[in-house]
Amino acid sequence: MGFDEMDVDTIWMDGEFVDWEDAQIHVLTHGLHYGTGIFEGVRCYDTENGPALFRWDAHLDRFYQSGEPYELEIGHDREELTEATMELIRRQELESCYVRPIAFYGYNSLGVSPTDCPTRTAIACWPWGTYLGEDALEKGVEVMVSSWRKHSSSQIPTNAKTTGLYVNSMLAGEEARRNGYTEAIVLDKEGYVAEGPGENIFLVRDGELFTPALSQSILDGITRQSVIEVARDLGYTVHDQATISRGELNTADELFFTGTAAEVTPIKQVDNVEIGSGTRGPVTEEIQQTFFDMLESPPEKYDDWFTYV
Ligand code: PMP
Repeated sequence: MGFDEMDVDTIWMDGEFVDWEDAQIHVLTHGLHYGTGIFEGVRCYDTENGPALFRWDAHLDRFYQSGEPYELEIGHDREELTEATMELIRRQELESCYVRPIAFYGYNSLGVSPTDCPTRTAIACWPWGTYLGEDALEKGVEVMVSSWRKHSSSQIPTNAKTTGLYVNSMLAGEEARRNGYTEAIVLDKEGYVAEGPGENIFLVRDGELFTPALSQSILDGITRQSVIEVARDLGYTVHDQATISRGELNTADELFFTGTAAEVTPIKQVDNVEIGSGTRGPVTEEIQQTFFDMLESPPEKYDDWFTYV
């Protein structure tokens, strides 16, 4: 669904609330030419206690940290960004939505050095349903191991959520979709499993969970962190520094993606190989159920994961 079909009308930009169609930038913006921006993706859930941002503090931490390698100074503090986001949700009467903060080098000159380019910052919110399709959460998705590799963390900081990095995600995802799959799995430079284009990945084997380490070119996903904690609380052993070979994908009992957009999505097939029984597996289902129950009715032990609007 395109933005024009959505009932949203306001964007916060550089300290002001502006009309949706007035949130414009110049075509010679540095970030547009060189991908010198950083962003976040956050979800607001309509919990039984009212709309709440999930893991807002962790997303804000990552937002500021993503700017650091690029010396991108975000001239707005946490309180201002929090209040702006809350106000956007309230004003537009959104109950559950996706929140997209972005900061980037703006318009001044087009040398690769952004020294004299101002930092621009914006936040938009809009309703966004299931990222990988309606059936995905229940039935799982078919994925393809991409022929594109992830950049190594010695080439570009893979732990920063940088706009320019997503050309790799786009190439991998579109290659998969052209071949009839829903999403891709991307290997790191050495050929080990890294993550999806916009998701982290978990493997289940003999009742234990495995997910690649932060050193393997992955984003430090906040859903990944949350699922590790939820799974451990459920009594599972979670290996969060795992090295997973391509072949282990095919022999896994279960596989699933995690991400703010994808939430917890089972993977039922990799390339031409069915995973487990070819449907959502029992471990994935239990974790997914616990995760969604928590978002509907936040238990006390995860209370600090919720910021009420
Ligand atoms: N990896 C990549 C490359 C991503 O873009 C995302 C989405 N932000 C994730 C993993 C999952 O991270 P999170 O759970 O914080 O959304």
